[in-house]
Amino acid sequence: MDLNKLLIKQDLCIEDRPSACIAACPIHMDIKTFIEEIEKSDFKKAYKVMAKKVPFTRLIGSICDHPCENACVRNGLGGAVNIHELEKAVVKLGFSSAKRTIPIPKNGKKVAVLGAGISGVTAAFDLDKKGYDVTIYEKSEKIGGRLWEFEGKQLSKELIEEELQVINKGNIKINLNHTVDSSELEKILNIYDAVYIGTGIWKENLKIDLKTFQVGDTALFAGGRITTNNDSVIFSVSSGRRAVVSIDRYLQKVSLTVARENEGAYETNLKIKLDDIESVEAIEKTSLEYNEQEAIKEAGRCIKCQCNECIKACTHFKKFDIKPKRYIRVINHNESVILGDHYGNKMINSCTECGLCGEVCPSSLNMKNIVQETRESMVERGKMPVSAHDFALKDMEFSNSKYFSMVKNQPGYESVKYVFYPGCQLPASSPEYIGKVYADLINNISDGVGIMLGCCGAPADWSGRQDLMQKNIQDIRNKWNDMNRPTFILACSTCCSVFEKYMPEIEFISLWEVIEKYSININSKTKENTVLNVHDACTTRYNNKIHGSVRNIAVKLGYKIEELKFTKEKTKCCGYGGLVYFANREHSKDFIKDRIQESKDDYLVYCSMCKDLFISEGKRTFHILDLMYGESLEEASLRKAPTLSKRHENRTRVKINLLKNFWNEESENLKIDYDLKINISDNVQNQMEDRLILLGDIEKALFNAKTNKERFFNPQSSHYLTRMRIDNVTYWVEYEDKDDELLVHSVYTHRMEVVEG
Ligand code: SF4
Ligand code: SF4
Ligand code: SF4
Repeated sequence: MDLNKLLIKQDLCIEDRPSACIAACPIHMDIKTFIEEIEKSDFKKAYKVMAKKVPFTRLIGSICDHPCENACVRNGLGGAVNIHELEKAVVKLGFSSAKRTIPIPKNGKKVAVLGAGISGVTAAFDLDKKGYDVTIYEKSEKIGGRLWEFEGKQLSKELIEEELQVINKGNIKINLNHTVDSSELEKILNIYDAVYIGTGIWKENLKIDLKTFQVGDTALFAGGRITTNNDSVIFSVSSGRRAVVSIDRYLQKVSLTVARENEGAYETNLKIKLDDIESVEAIEKTSLEYNEQEAIKEAGRCIKCQCNECIKACTHFKKFDIKPKRYIRVINHNESVILGDHYGNKMINSCTECGLCGEVCPSSLNMKNIVQETRESMVERGKMPVSAHDFALKDMEFSNSKYFSMVKNQPGYESVKYVFYPGCQLPASSPEYIGKVYADLINNISDGVGIMLGCCGAPADWSGRQDLMQKNIQDIRNKWNDMNRPTFILACSTCCSVFEKYMPEIEFISLWEVIEKYSININSKTKENTVLNVHDACTTRYNNKIHGSVRNIAVKLGYKIEELKFTKEKTKCCGYGGLVYFANREHSKDFIKDRIQESKDDYLVYCSMCKDLFISEGKRTFHILDLMYGESLEEASLRKAPTLSKRHENRTRVKINLLKNFWNEESENLKIDYDLKINISDNVQNQMEDRLILLGDIEKALFNAKTNKERFFNPQSSHYLTRMRIDNVTYWVEYEDKDDELLVHSVYTHRMEVVEG
């Protein structure tokens, strides 16, 4: 994926955008951190957070007109957080005098400030901090301007004097009782490098740029009430501060306008979902200001606005402790390093590509497509670890081999309107249903229903193997054309998504819609009001026809459906998607566990992988076909998934039985018989499952050992050890030849080739 595309995607994430209150604060006080410190009862730290942005902190903190509160998302949910009251409490409970800072060396430039009101003293303070030589001209006998209007109300005389000491006692020169008129301004402009007017009013009309506060393109700048036209204290502070940014840039001869979009108050583009937020009334104060406990409680009402919708929903993000922005950075890094980074590879192959993140994200940032494209690019550049997906690809190859694949018209039909395509996992997991469903389809649909067995190519798609994928699609297309373009009846959600993505010209309908439409086998109620939670397959997240049909079928059979929190378009993955089951088995379990803990009721699924995985972690789960065709519902709900070897055998059995029962054809050569008696303990069987080893491959290795005597003998244990390389995997089998039975003690595989010298 190219870097620009990645950057655009990354930019969609609004996770780090400021909260509404911070954006609305004209000087962008870090309100969230401030409130967090209060909640921790650390009023001193809260004060420091405030002092970082708010000049003359105790004064402005006490009289600020708090526009932040108007923007607070708690408005409507018990009322805005009382940010201003919290500031007042912190001024009282957390004040500590600022540490002496090392004076910044003077930069040799001189700036005059006309008027020592709120914007003027702010500008003087900021200019001084930046190393300018500052001179104030104030028409009255003291600095502070409108601050004195609050004397005796919110502010005491002592407090005003104390806070203004930084101006009075610093390097700033102050000329009191000095009114500057326009003729003197001319002179001042000749003496100083720049001049700031913060006088509240100015007789002459000034042409002020409200973004830069510059007057024309001169060295004159103006702020305060001249620009705000209102009495807001905090907007005066903000204009003085922003004017200083301009003066500094002007004198440094850099652009006055670049990268200043987020100065002053603005509306954030952070969106917060409030559906789960309860309304909480504001905390009343029992005296003039909040006491400690009241402040902590009020701080607790703050939602700490931040977007983490995708993190809340996705097990993958949580497990890898990563947010989308960094995820995309890791992908970018992985794309540019020569060998591919181990951590990055593992992470990229551990996303189920379920698309839930895109659904819950307010900016629709979907990792599914990013991860998919990255996998394809990893394959193209030879960076995809072979071990991640080779079993799944071998499984696909098996499904497309003569051992499963076939195409047939309905017996007695020259051409058919429909073709039933059960996919490869349903026949592997529940072979007993395929013939029953097919019989019901041909009995209910008069236009002819053929059958096609094979794999849709999902493993190739998920593993980024576009070469295999395109070949697979072409194969399906050719067969479809040969059959005269019938409509596919699909029983697997993953097939539906593959057909939709790669073969839009092929019409398809899900088996569940067909069953509902023709009322196939759903007319007798099997259960009265048993509650089931439908787990929708993530591959058909947006297919509401399937969602509806599955529910309607269950209801017709007498079940009561209750929805999970994450349902339909917000469904979660069972842990199989994206081949995570093969690339990171442990992580697959995280997905399973996350999903099954959502409800105590039994689950109803319509994908056989979902069923097999949920049951593997102990969740009672029905496949929709269990409800219609299952002989014992109790057994079906907890039936363990067949082993990997058995799944192959089941597919072949489906083909043999269909051919025999519907076309009266015997299938020769579909079973390889090595004529060996092999005994494999449960323990070794589990080893084989964990290591993705098929019985057929062990049989091959044992057959080779016996016929070609390619084996080592250990006289101490009487065990043989044999090895055989099949495709790119070497199989090792330790066994005993006992009374004509081969007793397997251990099996393992590796991918290195042992070259004999
Ligand atoms: S809830 Fe908290 S973080 Fe969100 S806008 Fe209100 S004060 Fe700010
Ligand atoms: S696609 Fe699914 S698993 Fe991957 S990041 Fe998004 S929500 Fe998580
Ligand atoms: S949901 Fe996730 S990706 Fe989307 S904006 Fe929020 S944090 Fe970013």
